[in-house]
Amino acid sequence: MGKKKSVKKGKKPHKNKPTSKKYSKYKIEGEKITRQAFCPRCGPGVFLMKSQGRSYCGKCHYSEFESKK
Ligand SMILES: [Zn+2]
Repeated sequence: MGKKKSVKKGKKPHKNKPTSKKYSKYKIEGEKITRQAFCPRCGPGVFLMKSQGRSYCGKCHYSEFESKK
């Protein structure tokens, strides 16, 4: 008596992605922006723009090199 059992396994592919890596990366970049250095001359509130390893203040034209540790 070869009764074949055909068990249907309802395997549904889970497409639940917990956290998008792109999102986490974006979050870090956003944090970096908020951690930007302030201008020592103008004080907090005036950010230094970073370009080519240098920080530059667009208000008082103060510029400093980023010290690499
Ligand atoms: Zn400044």
